[in-house]
Amino acid sequence: MSFNETSYPSRSLEFLHISNDEEEEEEEKEEEEKDQARLTPIPKPPPYTTPLQAKVRLDMIIAGAGLGGLTTAIALRRRGHTVTVFERAPDLGEVGAGIQIPPNSTRILLALGLGPYISPHTTSPSAIRLRRWEDGSVIGLTRLVPDFEHKYHAPYYVVHRANLQLALYRLALDLGVVVRLGRGVRTGGYDGDRARVVLEDGECVEGDLVVAADGIKSDARKLVLGGVDQPPREAGFAAYRAMVDTDKLKDDPDVSWLLDNPGQNLWIGDMRHVMAYSIAGGKSFNMVLSHPSSTDPSTWRQETAVQEMKEHFKDWDPRLVKIINQITTTSKWPLLSGVPLPTWLSRSRTLLIIGDAAHPMVPYMSSGAAMAVEDGAALAEMLSCITSRSELSSALDVFEKVRILRTGQMQEASLVNGKLWHFGDGAEQRKRDEGMGREVERGEGGDGVNPNQWSDEVTARWVYGYDAEGEVRKAWGRSGTLDSTEVVGTKL
Ligand SMILES: Cc1cc2nc3c(=O)[nH]c(=O)nc-3n(C[C@H](O)[C@H](O)[C@H](O)COP(=O)(O)OP(=O)(O)OC[C@H]3O[C@@H](n4cnc5c(N)ncnc54)[C@H](O)[C@@H]3O)c2cc1C
Repeated sequence: MSFNETSYPSRSLEFLHISNDEEEEEEEKEEEEKDQARLTPIPKPPPYTTPLQAKVRLDMIIAGAGLGGLTTAIALRRRGHTVTVFERAPDLGEVGAGIQIPPNSTRILLALGLGPYISPHTTSPSAIRLRRWEDGSVIGLTRLVPDFEHKYHAPYYVVHRANLQLALYRLALDLGVVVRLGRGVRTGGYDGDRARVVLEDGECVEGDLVVAADGIKSDARKLVLGGVDQPPREAGFAAYRAMVDTDKLKDDPDVSWLLDNPGQNLWIGDMRHVMAYSIAGGKSFNMVLSHPSSTDPSTWRQETAVQEMKEHFKDWDPRLVKIINQITTTSKWPLLSGVPLPTWLSRSRTLLIIGDAAHPMVPYMSSGAAMAVEDGAALAEMLSCITSRSELSSALDVFEKVRILRTGQMQEASLVNGKLWHFGDGAEQRKRDEGMGREVERGEGGDGVNPNQWSDEVTARWVYGYDAEGEVRKAWGRSGTLDSTEVVGTKL
């Protein structure tokens, strides 16, 4: 990846370009005109009632009841398919910490009916503040409430991953999805030729399509790729994840202000950053602390992780150090990133991978789960477009093409954020801070071009204004496989 331009719509790297030359200025002007055209308001979707029902009812098998598998199950069930989810873990909701759910994801989840299940657990941060590593001064600002909700017609939530997973699980059950916990697909249990899985207890289950949402260490991926896996690579970074009891912060005026107006705070500095926000109705303060790491994760000792974490950030903003000093336990996660795979489908088109299995990414756009949610909604929409079983294979091809492009660009955008946030002090850092600072100075809105990708209008619109269902529907129409008027506009 060259770090001067992006393959996705963005103007966030413009601050790196020196453009004295007239030709470049001309090009910039043209780009601006194109951007203006792109920045027409995002149409508000009409209220969602019953989604377009599938004309061809399928028997779907999903492996993995993570955020991707469960969303896919719900989306498919709501279209009328029969859905069974097989999950290896005996219980759900035990892994993870805080997670951000951006509007492109909440729009889908709320439309699927998750609102009543998740609302007691969500927090809507008012803004994201980017802070200088050394003293915590605000160098970048994105207002989420009400700006994001107005622009993207859906809220930006933060929540504990366990609450989100359990909410999805309960909704899935209420809709009639069958979820089998403690019943995973055995290693080597996927079939590249038929929609069939062999479970760990030896039972063989067959349907019309197997969707493997089995996470970053997916066993299905290798089969889909013809026997040669392309696992994600270590990105050279690891993250400590930790939660601090907010009671420990409330009484200290140096840090209690962080709790007053729930927002997200991101300290950025040389090769490191810390993302922090309150979850669980303000009871817990969630922290992700990213730092360089090139050692083998199998050698990591969780017992020494707290001490190592303190060492990494010891010279940072003293207020941040105070909070870090309250952390008693942490877990260290390797940060991995994949590249767009050549395919997500077995040659027989009976096995499909989605979610982290298909597009692992570093969490710097907070979009890994959001992409898995989009996958699920897009798949359900795509399968509602077909009018006969003979079209299933082409529909999956169209789905794959659209989703590989979208998620590949999000993998890239996530790495770009890593570059943008991790400058050491120097010329690039100063230019970046100057570019982000205009928005901070104005207090409200910026000029729309911003090294802060949440505030860069073109980037944000591409990330948060994306219509996962609409994009596959349009692509299906373009593929000429059906009369597009039959589907477009009939979703609700
Ligand atoms: C530090 C960090 C912070 C993050 N923050 C965010 C964020 O703020 N926002 C965001 O959108 N994303 C975030 N992510 C990414 C997000 O957590 C993942 O992208 C998302 O959870 C992927 O969902 P998934 O369903 O594809 O996979 P998983 O959640 O990994 O689920 C896979 C499931 O499959 C099951 N399974 C595995 N093998 C089998 C088998 N053989 N048979 C049956 N079941 C099986 C597993 O037990 C698991 O339940 C973050 C990630 C990290 C590491």
